[in-house]
Amino acid sequence: MSNPSPNGPASHPDLQATRIVVLGGGPGGYEAALVARRLGADVTVVEQEGLGGAAVLTDVVPSKTLIAAAEWMSSTERAPALGIRLGGTPGSDAPAASVDLAAVNQRVLALAAAQSADIRARLEREGVRVVLGAGRLDGPRRVVVPAGPGAGEREQTFDADAVLVAVGATPRELPTAVPDGERILTWKQLYNLQTLPEKLVVVGSGVTGAEFAGAYRALGAEVTLVSSRDRVLPGEDADAAELLENVFTARGMEVLSRSRAEAAERTADGVRVTLADGRVVEGSHVLVAVGAVPATAGIGLEEAGVALTPSGHVVVDKVSRTSARGVYAAGDCTGVLPLASVAAMQGRIAVHHVLGDAVHPLNLQTVAANIFTAPEIATVGKSEAALRASGSKYVTATLPLARNPRAKMLGMRDGFVKLFAHPEAHVVLGGVIVSPRASELIFPVTLAVAHRLTVDDVAEAFTVYPSLSGSIAEVARMLHQPLD
Ligand SMILES: Cc1cc2nc3c(=O)[nH]c(=O)nc-3n(C[C@H](O)[C@H](O)[C@H](O)COP(=O)(O)OP(=O)(O)OC[C@H]3O[C@@H](n4cnc5c(N)ncnc54)[C@H](O)[C@@H]3O)c2cc1C
Repeated sequence: MSNPSPNGPASHPDLQATRIVVLGGGPGGYEAALVARRLGADVTVVEQEGLGGAAVLTDVVPSKTLIAAAEWMSSTERAPALGIRLGGTPGSDAPAASVDLAAVNQRVLALAAAQSADIRARLEREGVRVVLGAGRLDGPRRVVVPAGPGAGEREQTFDADAVLVAVGATPRELPTAVPDGERILTWKQLYNLQTLPEKLVVVGSGVTGAEFAGAYRALGAEVTLVSSRDRVLPGEDADAAELLENVFTARGMEVLSRSRAEAAERTADGVRVTLADGRVVEGSHVLVAVGAVPATAGIGLEEAGVALTPSGHVVVDKVSRTSARGVYAAGDCTGVLPLASVAAMQGRIAVHHVLGDAVHPLNLQTVAANIFTAPEIATVGKSEAALRASGSKYVTATLPLARNPRAKMLGMRDGFVKLFAHPEAHVVLGGVIVSPRASELIFPVTLAVAHRLTVDDVAEAFTVYPSLSGSIAEVARMLHQPLD
């Protein structure tokens, strides 16, 4: 077997000989495994839960499938404006539709399991060795998988020319609000619910808290969202966050801002959440969504020379190298940007680097992200806060969705399109779209940011009339600077 130098853009006469062991089968791991296999490497993926990782089994796929059901319920809100009476006789107060949460969750879990099985089958078809079990590093070039359920009767050892650590993260737990899986829940435990919570208290108003609070309200639960900050979605575009908070409260959600939750405990038939100022919020269930911790403890990283931050995240550079030669890391365990798309990109970059292929270092400027609330909030490029903080020159224009003809026809009121551009070069620097299906609408803005298109480039391209994307071209026209 050859002895390539995984830490440099090596010249490998025989890529078949390069052994890559991937620890963790989420998007950071399995996408990299596929690319490495395609490039001819010998690839092993060690995964302790199921292929697809938390992204597929407990996080992205389940939450977005649940949200698909919630979205269906939200869209019925628009029915009366379109002249449609739901719930039987005209003027009836009967609910438009009701939710069978057991059926919704059964679908969620079945879809996630099927997706995981598809990923495993694809990896195996491509010739990736899949090993079930909890692995750890034994030095920088070896991964050990102890015997255990699913892992076999004997400890297995895999020598590697390069190891990719993609072990993800797990929900952060508060010692004063320990999840019991029944009433005090993490986001991974929500899918065991058989009936809709009467009143769900959501602790944490970041993306995860906001998505679940919005979804459960749309499904029919009473929801109280407890936020330690001034408003929901701190760190996101301020106009978008304000709009969403207004929509939440208009839908009957109680939003408690500047309210830090200190503890949650079970009562005879529900939960009691105590806030730092002594107030008490009662509910039937509480979802604790206060961030995640990297799954990097006790797997031999520091012993192998891999530097961790004080929060336990793996320190990586823009080509996913860690401080230990031959060890790379990708995804949530690096704390770079907790998105499945970023994890996959980091993993792919790592194997291109290991195998001496052309490598484009990670560029976070063009990452498109979406918050799956109703309306959705999609962003790309520079945020207004970042532009202000860096003292960059920029111009901006915003068009409310309510002025878009297609939105009027569809009965959509809440949302906007906002673009930022450079005042002299006129290039599009970033954008925010708040709208149903903003996740689909953001792509033209992503193309503009990625390829440094000017506002005139965007404005001069045809859009369908009538269409929501017409507002993107319209905002670009608002930013046109006439010649002097
Ligand atoms: C509720 C929720 C919703 C989200 N929605 C979105 C979304 O819509 N879009 C988006 O882009 N991102 C979303 N994210 C973020 C996304 O889930 C993560 O960014 C993504 O999962 C990161 O991928 P990963 O490969 O780093 O980790 P993971 O997906 O967590 O995979 C890591 C895998 O490693 C395995 N593992 C850990 N330790 C070991 C070990 N010692 N041995 C073997 N295996 C091990 C774990 O079992 C796991 O399967 C969401 C997150 C949450 C919490």
